[in-house]
Amino acid sequence: MADSFRALMVTKTDDGQSAEIKDITDADLMEGDVTVAVSHSTVNYKDGLALTGTAPILRASPMIPGIDFAGEVISSDHADWKAGDKVVLNGYGVGEGHSGGYAQRARVKGDWLVKLPDAFSTADAMAIGTAGYTAMLCVLALEKHGVGPKDGDILVTGANGGVGSVAIALLAKLGYRPVASTGRPEEADYLKALGAVDVIDRKEFSEPGRPIGKERWAGAVDAVGSTTLANVIAQTSYGGTVAACGLAGGADLPSSVYPFILRGVTLCGIDSVMAPRGIREEAWSRLARDLDLDKLNSMTNTIGLDGVIGAASDIIAGKVRGRLIVDVN
Ligand code: NDP
Repeated sequence: MADSFRALMVTKTDDGQSAEIKDITDADLMEGDVTVAVSHSTVNYKDGLALTGTAPILRASPMIPGIDFAGEVISSDHADWKAGDKVVLNGYGVGEGHSGGYAQRARVKGDWLVKLPDAFSTADAMAIGTAGYTAMLCVLALEKHGVGPKDGDILVTGANGGVGSVAIALLAKLGYRPVASTGRPEEADYLKALGAVDVIDRKEFSEPGRPIGKERWAGAVDAVGSTTLANVIAQTSYGGTVAACGLAGGADLPSSVYPFILRGVTLCGIDSVMAPRGIREEAWSRLARDLDLDKLNSMTNTIGLDGVIGAASDIIAGKVRGRLIVDVN
């Protein structure tokens, strides 16, 4: 077939959904003003939810999942982009309602793209991926709310995951004291090598606790949600900030107002999907400055398109450590 390329296509069926690697052409892609030769994509937690059908993430059928990708522009009708530009895409509903990164080509709106920082290869950018870019948004939120390195320990929940691993590396580089909360204590050496000053068992946070407890954390990056987040908020020190980005432990929040009205704690919501371009550019330029590439490599494994389905089940089962990048070629 002329000009065909490989893609992981998901089709909704009466029984749920089925996934298959197919040879497709540009005609199978969705509307957009920029076509990108995709180099790498990744497997994020949301991709796991989408591919396993655990949550109704996919809103079109057939379509190509993959919420992020990096690559080189092939053609563009958008004023900001020309052939040869290296670009990154995170979110904007790509891999949810618009075909995404698990293909050798993607067609998207130019407004959704960010220039790849010179410091990174396309593989590096996807080793960071949406999880790492979200970790940077969390760290920026702590900074913007005045939590500094000397204020005390910063708790990172879901520490072995993508968001957690990158958050620990970033916080350590910036002089903070990140404490890793994990259900995998056997990975303590890995977490300490990333910069965790201490590794604690996530069970400490998984049972309902007091509405307000001992002040332990100057701030926190929470990828887990639910009872864990409620306990973290209750243990946050006076004036501290909790950046909440995830729901790996559940989407509820069984909390009270006491930490907010008695300690002035700030609960800061983090969204990477619709974050405006200015914040994205700030996050990517700060990643270029503040993320140690050796640490990034130590947390990254690479798979091909044919490994994506298995990896999706693994990430939902909490078995993936760090970041998984997908070399689509
Ligand atoms: P990962 O699967 O890589 O990491 C999640 C980690 O959470 C796991 O490694 C595990 O860490 C911990 N965890 C898993 N299940 C549970 C559980 N039942 N109870 C407590 N802890 C658990 O996912 P990502 O890092 O890619 O994403 C983390 C979260 O952030 C997800 O919920 C994701 O949807 C969300 N997210 C949100 C974004 C946004 O824009 N707001 C963007 C990107 C991600 P350990 O083994 O160390 O305990």
